[in-house]
Amino acid sequence: MLTARDLHHAGVDVLVIERGPLGGESSWAGGGIISPLYPWRYAPSVNRLAEASKQIYPALAQQLQDESGIDCELITSGLLYSGLEEQQMAERWAHDWSVELQLVTDAQRMHQIEPQVNQAYDCGLWLPDIMQIRNPKLVKALKGSFEARAIRYLEHTPVTELLIDAGVVKGVSTASETYHADKVIIASGAWSAGFIKAERNVEVEPVKGQMLMFRGEAGMVKRMVLASGHYIIPRKDGRVLAGSTLERAGFDKTVTDEATVELRSAATEIIPALAGLEIERQWAGLRPGTAQGIPYICSHPDIDGLYINAGHYRNGVVLGAASARLMAEIVNEQELSLDPAPYALEAMH
Ligand SMILES: Cc1cc2nc3c(=O)[nH]c(=O)nc-3n(C[C@H](O)[C@H](O)[C@H](O)COP(=O)(O)OP(=O)(O)OC[C@H]3O[C@@H](n4cnc5c(N)ncnc54)[C@H](O)[C@@H]3O)c2cc1C
Repeated sequence: MLTARDLHHAGVDVLVIERGPLGGESSWAGGGIISPLYPWRYAPSVNRLAEASKQIYPALAQQLQDESGIDCELITSGLLYSGLEEQQMAERWAHDWSVELQLVTDAQRMHQIEPQVNQAYDCGLWLPDIMQIRNPKLVKALKGSFEARAIRYLEHTPVTELLIDAGVVKGVSTASETYHADKVIIASGAWSAGFIKAERNVEVEPVKGQMLMFRGEAGMVKRMVLASGHYIIPRKDGRVLAGSTLERAGFDKTVTDEATVELRSAATEIIPALAGLEIERQWAGLRPGTAQGIPYICSHPDIDGLYINAGHYRNGVVLGAASARLMAEIVNEQELSLDPAPYALEAMH
């Protein structure tokens, strides 16, 4: 959706063809943290997109609100890490990318930052500038922006085939129609590998993530908190998300009792007060998994007119804004805002 909006802005005649409701898959299911969870564990190519997106989001959220009337709830709630195991890597990363990082070495400071955090947490890392966005509202606002800008889209219309003739893309077909286009972008998340029949294809596979949502009072929890791979995201209205599982289970989105237990126990360890709250909802989404979390943002080397913007794994919201910009620049043969080499089909993902 972000790519379509950027292309339309650049004067391209765009049609988005979506199998379900717009933005109804991973982009709806995610947590919306505008940062990789442990950014220092990722390649510079991931951090470059993340840092570029962080610059884009504040103005983008405002534009989307102006166009759609929907507030995506982009808020700087900061991210508090419990524990100092990765201190050195984190400090080097913060220095390299000019991100503010504070060392927390006593329980009092931990609780000053987030009063609800487990009383036993006595050290950590505090990144006060990390933002979050309420991703279901982001996709809704993007749909509103499509209406406002007259960007064409089709919902509940699966693409069944890519039309390719003599190594040149000609369009796509659905069950009932053929749509001719001289350029086609595969931006189909976890399903992206299913379209290309050529020898060289993307390596993207679904990685299921389950989440819980607690219903709390506004302001009860203020900060995003991460401990031992599990995280808490407090929304503006008091709802608190607890994530997430990492499961390689094919294209299955069923929620499980095991995940309820795992996520509830991790969440109440981080914020004990959550134990008293009702779990309002549990859901699963399919992340577009790549081995190193580096997305494909490229043209296909063997099929003229075919492009790919997929494979953002755990970070498609934070990487999305800069990925869309780069994809639009590549398609329009404009000056590129980032070196595209790491995102090519031939590169390591
Ligand atoms: C539990 C969880 C937590 C997450 N937390 C975060 C986070 O905090 N921060 C972050 O940055 N990222 C997070 N992510 C990752 C992020 O959500 C994804 O990387 C991102 O949404 C991928 O976007 P996408 O557009 O590539 O894929 P999707 O949003 O899945 O969109 C792909 C679309 O393609 C459509 N499609 C598939 N096949 C066809 C077809 N044949 N024809 C037409 N359309 C088709 C699908 O219906 C779908 O709507 C999380 C993900 C999960 C599951």
